[in-house]
Amino acid sequence: MRTTAIIHLNRFKKNINSVKTRIGKNRLICVPVKADAYGHGAVQIAKAGLEAGASCFGVATVAEGLALKKGGIKAPILLFSQPNPDEIRQIVSAGLIPFVSDAEFVSILNDYAKTAKKKLSVHIKIDTGMGRIGCAAKEAPELARQIVKSKWLKLTGTATHLAVSDSTNKRDIDYTKKQIACFQKAVKAIRAAGIDPGLVHAANSGAVILHPDAWFDMVRPGILLYGYKSVTEHEAPPDQLKKLAKYKSLAVEPVMELSSTVVLIKKIKKGGSVSYGRTWTAETDTLIAVLSVGYADGLPRLASNKWQVLIGGKLYPLVGRISMDQCCVNLGKKTKVNRWDEAAVFGSPNNDAAALAKITGTIPYEITCNINKRVPRVYK
Ligand SMILES: *Cc1c(COP(=O)(O)O)cnc(C)c1O
Repeated sequence: MRTTAIIHLNRFKKNINSVKTRIGKNRLICVPVKADAYGHGAVQIAKAGLEAGASCFGVATVAEGLALKKGGIKAPILLFSQPNPDEIRQIVSAGLIPFVSDAEFVSILNDYAKTAKKKLSVHIKIDTGMGRIGCAAKEAPELARQIVKSKWLKLTGTATHLAVSDSTNKRDIDYTKKQIACFQKAVKAIRAAGIDPGLVHAANSGAVILHPDAWFDMVRPGILLYGYKSVTEHEAPPDQLKKLAKYKSLAVEPVMELSSTVVLIKKIKKGGSVSYGRTWTAETDTLIAVLSVGYADGLPRLASNKWQVLIGGKLYPLVGRISMDQCCVNLGKKTKVNRWDEAAVFGSPNNDAAALAKITGTIPYEITCNINKRVPRVYK
């Protein structure tokens, strides 16, 4: 095939196992499968997740939740983002579990659930310092009380989200600790009001690696389960280094491999140029492989003249601009590469999406999410 995203489900399951081993068997794993599982394919990832012991899933939109239901996923589905009022009917009928941040939304949900005569589970979302959705920590007990009093609602969880849990900078570590402490206090206040907060959860990937205090009842690591640790290391305080080393030793492998084909090999003479803008010219006579993959597939154009692809176990540089549907690779004067050979554009240990993200000024999340719909996902 022209270009495919090979999804290594065995690696995904191994990554789940690494996280399970790390957090202990009494904690649950919620797999974030928003944005089509970061580009990997939500239904397939959810099925593999269930086989490996995941207990629920997280989506950003109602449509994503409905697609999972339609794909046969019976496990609970958390709705991480704030939906619009015109989507509530579907939330109730599908039984998605929304995060709630405020009294108005709780009351709208209760009205709809009453009309549908269907009890709806919700999780309280507390803003402990992310500054996005969520209620203020001191409002949490009152919101919990309102939910408990709402006849058609059931409080089954309490959550927060961490802003800098993936950083080893001292200021960021302190900020995360403050968020965790604020969350603990709010959960305690809910309990003190005689209310069961349900599943308590906070940890994204960064916190699974660096902040055991944030693990609570359930963790929600996304990028980590897709194979990237994505921890930014700087100014790690010496007293933290040993702890960091332990948590950083957690082993995960990239799940997505973008694979393309050498569709043509051609000679370019010394002084000849390659692709739009003539940004690369050959210093000597050389062989150029044309690959059938471009920025419309999700290979960032910013990687032009900066990236290396793996063919037959060897890395070769991309030369000239990446165009919409094609790019070119310099094979050198002589080569063992053959026409129709497979090329790993990214996702092998030698050229993972984190490295590609680094040279293009982004994060691995954006690389895998941006692999376009026209690229078939092939599950292994
Ligand atoms: C996306 C998301 C996560 C996962 O974040 P990662 O950085 O990929 O681990 C966890 N929780 C919420 C609420 C999210 O939106």
